[in-house]
Amino acid sequence: MCADFKCDICGYEVESETNLPDDFVCPICGFDRSHFKRDIIAQSTDSRVELNNY
Ligand SMILES: [Zn+2]
Repeated sequence: MCADFKCDICGYEVESETNLPDDFVCPICGFDRSHFKRDIIAQSTDSRVELNNY
């Protein structure tokens, strides 16, 4: 399983197996990691999918 961190400012995505370092900043917009939301890429039984039905 891998985790994806996505910047909620610019949408930049980082793949990391661990938490982002404390001093991590977004290379695009420069905000700190508190603006990165963790997004687990699940390929298992976790079916919490938050997608809109189009
Ligand atoms: Zn950003």
